[in-house]
Amino acid sequence: MRAHSLYAEPVTFGVSGFLSHLECGRAGHTISPESLTNLCHCGSPLLARYRLDEVRHSLTREMLRARPPTLWRYRELLPAGPDEEPVTLGEGMTPLIPALRLGVEFGMTDLWIKDESANPTGSFKARGMSVAVTMARARAAKALSLPSAGNAGSAAAAYGARAGLPVHVFIPTDTPPLFAIQCRAFGASVTLVDGVITDAGRAMALAGAGLDWFDLSTLKEPYRVEGKKTMGFELAEQFEWKLPDAILYPTGGGTGIVGMWKAFDELETLGWIGEARPRLYSIQAAGCAPIVRAFESGASSAEPFPDPKTFASGLRVPRAIGDFLILDAVRKSGGIALAVDDDAIHLAWREIGRAEGLFVAPEGAAVWAGLKELLGAGRVRPDERVVLFNTGTGLTYADSWAPGDRA
Ligand SMILES: *Cc1c(COP(=O)(O)O)cnc(C)c1O
Repeated sequence: MRAHSLYAEPVTFGVSGFLSHLECGRAGHTISPESLTNLCHCGSPLLARYRLDEVRHSLTREMLRARPPTLWRYRELLPAGPDEEPVTLGEGMTPLIPALRLGVEFGMTDLWIKDESANPTGSFKARGMSVAVTMARARAAKALSLPSAGNAGSAAAAYGARAGLPVHVFIPTDTPPLFAIQCRAFGASVTLVDGVITDAGRAMALAGAGLDWFDLSTLKEPYRVEGKKTMGFELAEQFEWKLPDAILYPTGGGTGIVGMWKAFDELETLGWIGEARPRLYSIQAAGCAPIVRAFESGASSAEPFPDPKTFASGLRVPRAIGDFLILDAVRKSGGIALAVDDDAIHLAWREIGRAEGLFVAPEGAAVWAGLKELLGAGRVRPDERVVLFNTGTGLTYADSWAPGDRA
């Protein structure tokens, strides 16, 4: 492994090259990871599989301690091969902050916030893009494209810039304007599209037809989820290899949930954790809750959500290609999917800021709104160890702050 450019001293992230194959999440089809790949031939997302028996002999939990605080510390469990230099801006190893005041009123004694706003470009999307762009460049992609509700676009633009690849982002017109500015600042071409993220995806397919654009859409390529699974590794490492009782995660396309669930399985195979799993709570906005509807009806996949509306733009995803993977993980974990309305998100937004000094993304506020409901319903006990994911910074959404609160 070559020196890492972010650090004055040459450092090693460890050996790599344990990627075995790609496996389709629905039917178990196996394909080689050697070429640039989107979906399985059956239309399902592909998941990366590793030679974990070999990793077990090369990597110990103790070895991680000496490595730099980025997600590439888990190099043996990431897809980049020995000659594939990571495209990195220092993403990952975000703070896990004890929430000392937020849950007090509810008698909570062990509440934590995993603060993903500390990532480059201000959200956890940086994790996925660091790994996906690394792999796309290594597989000789010429240009990158994606539809985005905001943060994925700016992260793709940043990592594309760093990799020297052109990036084409398609964003719904009513996405908070700072996202488009951020994308343009990184040199990406931005197209604003009337409608929601699925409409932006259609516009991209039209504009890119016949062009050499590699599609980085959520779960339509195999490696963004690999970057995002490192949130699960970090929780385990930061809690000294003992997972919490419950995790609340704001769910749009679902790579956060799918990724962490995969991470826990990999850690168990390595023998680093046992078989106990946190209950995963998937939180959506009431104005766009396809996973919640499917969960409540007992379905294994979700119907597209009609007329999706919420100011938490990362949750405005009416149809998720990984729906069946999200539902499966939430059910197996013993958690539920739960919707909270925009008023509750606004209130929770203020409460987190005032209690903890964090200006979280509205998506991060949604999970606190969700936790209050789960506590009220007795699904989460106040003495349990609970982690709220703040997936991004609130700064990009500042225009949505309720007018009455501006004074
Ligand atoms: C994309 C996004 C989400 C949704 O995440 P998924 O893993 O795609 O479900 C949540 N919060 C923010 C801030 C986002 O940008």
